[in-house]
Amino acid sequence: MLKGFQNSPELNFSIPEHKEAMLMAFKEVDQEKGQDYPLIIGGERIMTDKKIVSNAPSTKEVLGRVSSCDQLLADKAIRTAHDAFQTWSKTPVEERICCVRRLVDLMKKYRYLLDAWSIEESGKNWGEADGELCEALDFFNSYIMHMRELDQGLELVYTEESCKCIYIPIGVGVAVPPWNFPLSLLAGMVVSAVITGNTIVCKPSSDTPIVAYKFIELCEKAGFPAGVINFIPGSGSVIGDYIVQHPLTRFVNFTGSKEVGLRINQKAAQVSEGQIWIKRVVAEMGGKNAIIVDSSADLKRAAAGIANSAFSFQGQKCSACSRAVVLSDVYDVFVEEIIACAKVLKEHQGSGRDDFPMGPVINQSAFNRISGYIETARKEGMIAFGGNYDDSKGFYIEPTVVRDITKDAVIAKEEIFGPVLAVIRANSFDEALEIANSTEYGLTGSVYTEDRTHIQKAKAEFHVGNLYFNRKSTGAVVLQHPFGGFNMSGTDAKTGTKDYLTNFLNLKSVCEDL
Ligand code: GLU
Repeated sequence: MLKGFQNSPELNFSIPEHKEAMLMAFKEVDQEKGQDYPLIIGGERIMTDKKIVSNAPSTKEVLGRVSSCDQLLADKAIRTAHDAFQTWSKTPVEERICCVRRLVDLMKKYRYLLDAWSIEESGKNWGEADGELCEALDFFNSYIMHMRELDQGLELVYTEESCKCIYIPIGVGVAVPPWNFPLSLLAGMVVSAVITGNTIVCKPSSDTPIVAYKFIELCEKAGFPAGVINFIPGSGSVIGDYIVQHPLTRFVNFTGSKEVGLRINQKAAQVSEGQIWIKRVVAEMGGKNAIIVDSSADLKRAAAGIANSAFSFQGQKCSACSRAVVLSDVYDVFVEEIIACAKVLKEHQGSGRDDFPMGPVINQSAFNRISGYIETARKEGMIAFGGNYDDSKGFYIEPTVVRDITKDAVIAKEEIFGPVLAVIRANSFDEALEIANSTEYGLTGSVYTEDRTHIQKAKAEFHVGNLYFNRKSTGAVVLQHPFGGFNMSGTDAKTGTKDYLTNFLNLKSVCEDL
């Protein structure tokens, strides 16, 4: 059991000072809206003509325009990071940790502003945004603790020779984080790379580049030397393959879709001219997560947990539940219970800024894709609740429950990444497990049951990276539920752990005969 580590507490917005501070932060965001933002390479701010426009998904309002990197500048960023690596990799661990500790303080100082930008750009509500900020702080604090341990090297047996085994940094990393956790996952990728002595080139998602820029600014304030952390927003089709295939890229850390993750894995495996290593890829990809509702389950509790897992942040988490696999004898009652939960959410749907429990989906193409799946669902089963969508003001989709879906239906197989829940019938607990395991993914899963033998069976047979019982499948907490998936869900690099950091380190074994 880890002692001495405490997870960061979330803000309580029912406390008037917290609420006031949040409203003030939105005012600051409003004053800044419409600006242009540069790339940051080696501390130099570079404005490009080509810009990525960042829109608020709640209202479609333009929030700002961020410079878009081309291949020439991407090359400059990687070379700059490579130069910075020569000194940063030799900088003592405690000095690197000092930068991260200052970053923790700065994140706390600018907490409301970071939350406000994240809410505006991603459409999430206040609690989701602040929960994410806490996750970032938890990542930093856990990586500080783990890096101190790793700095001791590997413990070896005593011999007459003098032996030691030390962890050393590996080189330039490329970070490609997603828009759904625009702060915590980006921050976790950056800090895990640099605390281990590597340097990083970060290409944020084009949907959330401003909150990313705000974070990178804080890294500069925290004292990371120029060139250690570089910021290059850009189109995936222009610089995506290029930065992965660059011969000086040593590792790639990615979170996003299966398609992009597999492409990165393939491109990184091809050796470019001048490249002298095998690149490492850490990939966190999709999920088609199931929650099983057993005959013995408390159905109200199950429905509440599943509604939260399927509809919080509009189902746009790779941990989200998109399949409820329900035992036949409780199927109809469960459907009624989940409809009741979805109904309450539908009545409370609105902008993230106004802190509604359910908000918009990220952009027009997500809206089109998800509404397309709803139309497929209409043919494959029966829409028991929701099914409407409206993009006239923002990208809003109702929480949607589809019943009578078979395990082979398209909406039971493909990741939708939206607020659409397929309810699938199972005739036995064994069959429920078989259905739950029947996709190519293996990220999260949960079981609602009071039956101990079923709990034991699921522990052994439910093949997912994060398995929960009588609890939602989202909201993994750092060092309580190390997060990462099996199969097509990714490389199972569990974020927040000591093992995670070893992805970015080599182990050098040194022996001297005395
Ligand atoms: N770690 C998050 C959770 O447990 C999900 C991360 C993601 O969607 O990438 O909900």
